[in-house]
Amino acid sequence: MKLETLAIHAGKHIDAETGAVTQPIHMSTTFERAEDGSYPLGYSYGRGNNPTRAALERRLAALEGGAAAAAFSSGTAAISAILQTLAPGDHMIAPRDIYYGVIRTLREVFTPWGLQVTFIDMTDEAALKAALRPQTKLVWVETPSNPLMRITPIARVAEIAHAAGALCVCDNTFATPVLQNPLRHGADGVMHSTTKFMNGHTDIIGGAVIARENGEFFQKVKKVQTNVGAIPSPFDCWLLMRGIATLPLRMKAHGENAMRVASYLAAHPKVEAVHYPGLRDHPGHDIAAEQMSGFGGMASVQVKGGRDEAFRAVARLRVFTRATSLGGVESLIEHRASVEGPGSTTPENLLRMSIGLENADDLIDDLKQALE
Ligand code: PLP
Repeated sequence: MKLETLAIHAGKHIDAETGAVTQPIHMSTTFERAEDGSYPLGYSYGRGNNPTRAALERRLAALEGGAAAAAFSSGTAAISAILQTLAPGDHMIAPRDIYYGVIRTLREVFTPWGLQVTFIDMTDEAALKAALRPQTKLVWVETPSNPLMRITPIARVAEIAHAAGALCVCDNTFATPVLQNPLRHGADGVMHSTTKFMNGHTDIIGGAVIARENGEFFQKVKKVQTNVGAIPSPFDCWLLMRGIATLPLRMKAHGENAMRVASYLAAHPKVEAVHYPGLRDHPGHDIAAEQMSGFGGMASVQVKGGRDEAFRAVARLRVFTRATSLGGVESLIEHRASVEGPGSTTPENLLRMSIGLENADDLIDDLKQALE
């Protein structure tokens, strides 16, 4: 079935007891055992499994074309679960331009725990090859990347990782399965902050890991999900399923709006640079056009005049909201370097935009008056 159909139907079934068309929210934390001590319906305790979460996980796996999925209470919990499949002494390679929280989690939690990490420009194949070690077990990809919107060729990186005996996992938060399926390009796993476009309404924090095979890697992730316990609530799973039903339509509209906004800004005299892979002069445009079916709703802009001018422009915006995060129906804008804090390499004049579903004319008018 096609993606639009899967987004609505995959994972759920008509409730046998009531005929309810919408997936029920099962709040029960525990499930009755049979007289012989078994669990005939497959559920025993809510941390291990829950029918609403199971429905969501089936939908996530179907959308990414994976064999299995595990839902988490945040994107960061999903990232941590993947890192916890590794052992102290293992080595991983991560992109330098990446969601800053990953760098922080690696530096503050997993490096002290014994994981070795090398940060590189993941768009540079020679740098990737040079960073490989016998202990390299994981190559992390984030494409498009946060906040510079760099594009990494997933198939090529997965091939290099596999040749070195490592797995390749891709953070697909910006693209979503509507625009990009990393598993189909050879990645072994996909990670999402479902907080963002997947849910789309700025009202849950969630994460997910989807694996190409239900093998050793996924079984380790599943063990972390149960034994570390960062699971989403049944209500959040239900909200996310509802959000996903409209994901294909939303991503189309986010992409159309972002293209218009990015094109407008690219021609503006007060703009130094626009980072949006849909623009023909973006360095990753051709690869993005090959591995994505659209360019998404995220764009960054560097304004002339440095940090002060960036803050001045943002302060004048009326339709865009000054806030972190992304992927909701409302357009958000943020000064990324100050959110990332000390150690950030993001340019001081860069503003990251999550382009929402408002009318693009209103977004452009808002930017126009703010930049004047
Ligand atoms: N990956 C990307 C690309 C993100 O933008 C974020 C959050 O901003 C995360 C992962 C982390 O997700 P969460 O905030 O749900 O823990």
